[in-house]
Amino acid sequence: MSLPGSPFFTYRNGVLCVEEIPLSVLAKRFGTPLYVYSHAAISAAFREFQQTLAAHPAGANSLVCYAVKANSSLAILNFFAREGAGFDVVSGGELARVLAAGGQAQKIVFSGVGKTEAEMESALIAGILCFNLESAEELRRLNAVAERLGKIAPVSLRVNPDVDPKTHPYIATGLKTAKFGVPMQDVLPLYRLARGLPHLAVIGIDAHIGSQILETAPFDEALARLLALCAELAADGIPVRHIDLGGGFGIPYRANENAPTIREYLTPLLDRLAKEQAKGCAPRFLIVEPGRSLVGNAGALLTRVEYRKPGAEHDFLIVDAAMNDLMRPALYEAWHEIIPAREETTAEREASAKTRLCDVVGPVCESGDFLGKGRRLAAESGDLLAVLSAGAYGMAMSSHYNTRARAAEVLVSGSAAHLVRRREKVEDLWAEEEIPLF
Ligand SMILES: *Cc1c(COP(=O)(O)O)cnc(C)c1O
Repeated sequence: MSLPGSPFFTYRNGVLCVEEIPLSVLAKRFGTPLYVYSHAAISAAFREFQQTLAAHPAGANSLVCYAVKANSSLAILNFFAREGAGFDVVSGGELARVLAAGGQAQKIVFSGVGKTEAEMESALIAGILCFNLESAEELRRLNAVAERLGKIAPVSLRVNPDVDPKTHPYIATGLKTAKFGVPMQDVLPLYRLARGLPHLAVIGIDAHIGSQILETAPFDEALARLLALCAELAADGIPVRHIDLGGGFGIPYRANENAPTIREYLTPLLDRLAKEQAKGCAPRFLIVEPGRSLVGNAGALLTRVEYRKPGAEHDFLIVDAAMNDLMRPALYEAWHEIIPAREETTAEREASAKTRLCDVVGPVCESGDFLGKGRRLAAESGDLLAVLSAGAYGMAMSSHYNTRARAAEVLVSGSAAHLVRRREKVEDLWAEEEIPLF
């Protein structure tokens, strides 16, 4: 069986390890619930992007901007910064985080539909690479903020290319019904508006059509539409220097699931871009904004079974991690493989095949609080489980719901483990609160 995340998460002699370290050792040392990330897995994913781009004529001049919202751990941001990555941020908070982690402002693109004046101001002062803008009001606001600061803001328009990424509706962003991007028919007028605003400099065009897209065709379709717009813009005297294809490259979440590799995603895009560049009107600089595909399968959430409770249909495995730690199952009915830290023996597997299926659930008071349903697991109270593929949109979406302190995070490299985020103390959860005296 091929696990998502392997070979970095794999059984060795019946013991589930991250790189060289048994997960049980980490659980004992740092407690549960615990997010564990493999440095080698993140590094391998990033290299695949870099190498695919560097090996292609259309990718030689390119920048991988890691989408910070997937996992904004300072340790991970710092790794990407040292590898020369850029960053895609969607808030002033993420911008500050990237700078605090050692990221270079000149490699940051700022996306998102609702940038505030304060966010624009801090990004202009930092000197970011590009603002990805989405509306006439936003263009005018940025122009005014830049004027006040005596600066020129580099901008791109985020186009909504109206392609169907065939992913979960909550993470499809490139359909014309989505709140994201500029509708195709408004793109040219908006670029003309941008050209006329003296404190904006048009430098690029971008799109981001959704997340966890498992086919290559929607990306290619989006690129074709962006390239057609580039030609129109050039003819209108508004040439763009870069094209930013966003992120959204899908990863396998199920055992034995096949997903395109990074090379398979990028190669048709690079081929198309190269062809257009040869004709002379396509931008020479390529940006991609991957999030999930860099970190998703590099992380697991470790959790311990508190109780096994019989239910009407399935047994419930009640574990110490919950929807506040990992929201994806509750939010999108997302599937994560959940496997025991100690590999089941053949005899145990045969025995568990006869026992009832179980729903792996947390202690939070919501029926939507589950990590997996209908699973075949022999686990009992005290056993350690790993929820795989939890490196992206796991910790980043966590909350304090039910006054639950958030998990700790550990980054592993070989046989070394570093606690990169301490477990919260419950007192910290109300540290900003006050009781009024009336
Ligand atoms: C979320 C997001 C990404 C990253 O998406 P993934 O599916 O994690 O690759 C990239 N660009 C923008 C603008 C985003 O909002």
